[in-house]
Amino acid sequence: MTHGPGTNGLILDEPLLWEKGKPGRVAYSMPTRDVPEESVDDTLVGDGPDFPDLGELDVIRHYTRLSQWNFGIDTGMYPLGSCTMKYNPKINEKMAATPGLASAHPLLEAELSQGILKLHYELQEYLAAVTGMDAVSLQPSAGAQGELTAMLMFAAYFRKKNEKRTKILIPDTAHGTNPASAALCGFASIPITSGKNGILEPVSVEELMDEETVGIMVTNPNTLGLFEEQIKEITDIVHRKGGLVYGDGANMNAIMGMVDIKRCGIDAVHLNLHKTFSTPHGGGGPGSGPVCVTEELAPFLPVPLVIKTDQGYLLETDEADSIGRVHGFFGNVSVLIRAYSYILSMGPDNLKKASQLAVLNGAYVKARLMDTFELAFDRPCMHECVFSDSRQQAFKVTTLDMAKRLIDHGYHPPTIYFPLVVPGAIMVEPTETECKDDLDTFIEVFKAIAAEAEQDSERLHQAPVITKVRRLDETQAARKPCLTG
Ligand SMILES: *Cc1c(COP(=O)(O)O)cnc(C)c1O
Repeated sequence: MTHGPGTNGLILDEPLLWEKGKPGRVAYSMPTRDVPEESVDDTLVGDGPDFPDLGELDVIRHYTRLSQWNFGIDTGMYPLGSCTMKYNPKINEKMAATPGLASAHPLLEAELSQGILKLHYELQEYLAAVTGMDAVSLQPSAGAQGELTAMLMFAAYFRKKNEKRTKILIPDTAHGTNPASAALCGFASIPITSGKNGILEPVSVEELMDEETVGIMVTNPNTLGLFEEQIKEITDIVHRKGGLVYGDGANMNAIMGMVDIKRCGIDAVHLNLHKTFSTPHGGGGPGSGPVCVTEELAPFLPVPLVIKTDQGYLLETDEADSIGRVHGFFGNVSVLIRAYSYILSMGPDNLKKASQLAVLNGAYVKARLMDTFELAFDRPCMHECVFSDSRQQAFKVTTLDMAKRLIDHGYHPPTIYFPLVVPGAIMVEPTETECKDDLDTFIEVFKAIAAEAEQDSERLHQAPVITKVRRLDETQAARKPCLTG
C-alpha cells in the first residue's frame, strides 16, 4: 500500500484537568515573602473559581496531548474544498503579536492611534486594488457577516430609491450562507439552476430577473471550482432591470491579480481574509470578511471608515446613508494585521503567482485523479476540482468511506457531499502551498484507496481504523461535544 504521512503515532488518553488535580499541587515557585503579612477581608475574596491544583508538568502534558488529537495545516495536507486551508506563514503571526499593535486600545484618540489607523487605511486600499473595487469596510468578522453587510447595504440602496424589491437570485451551487444572509434582510431566495457544464447561463437569469428582484448573489469561481465565464452578460442583465450584483469572494485565492471584479459588473464583494490572506481558520477563531463596493454603494458602507486627511488618519462616523456599525470598534484587528503583513510580504506579483499556482495545483489533481474518480464536470477547473463516487458505488463504497480512509493515511478529508448539485461529491482544493511531491503522495494514496474499494470494500466500511475515535454521529458530536478523552 502506498504510504502517506501516516497516523501510527502514540495518541495518549487524557482526562480533564479537574480529574487530574490533587489539592496542594502548584505550578509556580514564588520568592520568599520579604514584606509583613497582612490579612485579607475574606468577604472580598469569596470562594474563588473552582480551579484544580496542578503541577507544571500536569499542565504541559495536558495541553500537549490535546494538541496531538487535533489536525491542522501545520500537521499535514488539508484539501478541504471551498475552505482554502493553505499554509499561513508564521511571520504574519509574529506581526500580529507586535506589542504596539497587539496592545493598541480601541478607545484611544485617533491622534494616539495613527499607526494602527494607517494600517487600516492602507489595507482598505490594498483590498480595493486586489478586487478592483472603490471602497472597503474592514468591519465584518466573517464571510457570512460580509454577505449580510452587503445585503443590508443593498436594502438601504433600494429604500433610498424608494423601490420595493423582495427577492434575490441564488445559484444552486451557492454556499449555504448566501440564502441565510439574504433571508436575514427579508429577501426571499429564488434558486437558479446552473447549466449543463456547471456554470450559470444568462438565459436562466434573464427569465427570473425582474423589477421586484434585488439582484443576484454569484460566487466566482463557483463552488464547483469553475469560472463563471458569462459573468459579464449576467451582471448586464441584472443591471438592465435596475438590480445589483453581489459577488461572494470566498474563492479569491484562485483569481488574485487576474480578475478585475468591478469590471465583471459586481457591485459588492466580500473577501475571507481567513481563507485567502493568511489567518489560520477552521478552529472557530476570529475571522474577517471585508466588503468591497463600487462608488455608487460607498455611502452605505458601515461606519466608522478610516480616512486620510491633512491632519493624519481619522475616523469618519457621520455618513448619512451608512447602515451603521456591524461590529464593535474596528473588526477583528489581529486578522487585519495578518492580511496586511501577508499582502506586503508577497507584493502584487507574488499574490498573482499564488493564485496561478493554486489553479495549477487544482488542475494537476484533477488531471491525475480523473481516471480514478468520476469528474462532476469535465472542463477546465480553477483552484479546486469536484469528483463523485459514482464509479466506486459499483463496489458499495461511498464518498464517506473513502474520506474516512484518508484519515488513516494522515490526510484531512476533502469537502464531501457539497455542493449538493453533485451526488456523492468529493471536492479537493490543494491550494498553492502544497508542493508537487506532496500532491503526488496524496494522489497515490487516493488512488490506492480507490483500488482498495474494488478489492476489499468491507475494510473500507470500517475506516478510519487507527484514530482515537472512529465514525461519530457528526451532528451529535457538533451539538453535544463530549470533551473528556
Ligand atoms: C467559506 C465561505 C463562505 C462563508 O464564509 P465564513 O467566513 O465561513 O462565514 C461563503 N461563501 C463561500 C463560497 C465560502 O467558501
